[in-house]
Amino acid sequence: MTDSTPKSASRGERRSGFQVGRIFGFPLRLSVSWVVMSVFITFWYGEGLGNVLDLTGPTRYLAGLGFVACLLLSVLLHELGHALTARYYGIGVKGITLDLLGGYTEFDHDSPRPGVEMATALAGPGVSALLGVFSVIATLALPNGTVLDQIAFQLALCNIIVAVYNALPGWPLDGGRALRALVWGIKGDRDAGLLVAGWSGRIVAIGTALAAAALYATGWYEWFGLIFGLFVAFSIWQGAAGAVMTARVRRRYPLVDPVRLARPLFVVPAGTSLAEASRRAAEAGHAAPVLGVADPAGRLTALVVPEAAAAVPEQRRPWVTVETLARGIDAVATIPSAARGADVIKLLRGDPATPYLVVDGEDVVGVLTVMDVVQVLDPAAMKAGR
Ligand SMILES: [Zn+2]
Repeated sequence: MTDSTPKSASRGERRSGFQVGRIFGFPLRLSVSWVVMSVFITFWYGEGLGNVLDLTGPTRYLAGLGFVACLLLSVLLHELGHALTARYYGIGVKGITLDLLGGYTEFDHDSPRPGVEMATALAGPGVSALLGVFSVIATLALPNGTVLDQIAFQLALCNIIVAVYNALPGWPLDGGRALRALVWGIKGDRDAGLLVAGWSGRIVAIGTALAAAALYATGWYEWFGLIFGLFVAFSIWQGAAGAVMTARVRRRYPLVDPVRLARPLFVVPAGTSLAEASRRAAEAGHAAPVLGVADPAGRLTALVVPEAAAAVPEQRRPWVTVETLARGIDAVATIPSAARGADVIKLLRGDPATPYLVVDGEDVVGVLTVMDVVQVLDPAAMKAGR
């Protein structure tokens, strides 16, 4: 019941499975892994229950199917807890997906306030805890040794485990989202909260793997339990690592100042060779300029793509004219010099090789390249890439 966050567009790619309908207006999807899992649980649970209660023939698999249906309903109600709370606070829900690890709800934007994040995150485990309590009462009320009593008992167990486990304070579990909300509320910094929750998620992932190994070693888990536990641990580790990376990059957003990062623009007439343009730029004292191409009237018509210029071998440079390495000015996007941080990053959506013009009204302040921005946001990755 790890919940996806809406923070990055790439999370949308996680959408898998097929839509089975709508519930309260939310699109409901079932992943293929859930179908496989359902069949497996039907047989595995049916066999186990059949042996305990002496069920014969198809009855045991019917009981197994009944358990799967109850499990599906429990997961669905958990996710509806998140989705309905989000809707109450005006956050759009893109859909609910039930998958191998339970399920997840996708939102169309991040919570506006820590309190909303906290309520949305805890609503899921809250529903599971309530279901667990109801199932315990049902177990006590139903006559012992019946199929219904067994299913109620297993449901009580499942829901209580789901409630407690999801409340563990590590991203991407519900408790991790609550932890982010808490740190966000205290420090007033959403990304600081994400960083803490991400690190805590890594600890939860390691703990999960160790617990699965210990349960297997002591005979509580069969190989199936061990593999499932390790799979859950791996999935949490991935989510947590992603959160730590996102938080680190976002905390550097304020450093993205297009005026400070812009390279100077050095304009030469069309027909100038790359060698000659570079010589003139060096003579004018420009460090790492981006070359522009001007028409006979002196108007800027194109920008030389820095990577294309760098790729021309030294001995070819006197023979290559700048316009052959340039992109027409109509294809070049502009960034207002007053834009900062996230607003600049939103504008850098085009081809990463194309330079961007930083403008102050009609005036060109300089040229910004995607690589210059990446270097500021993630210097470690840049070094590793070299
Ligand atoms: Zn949840």
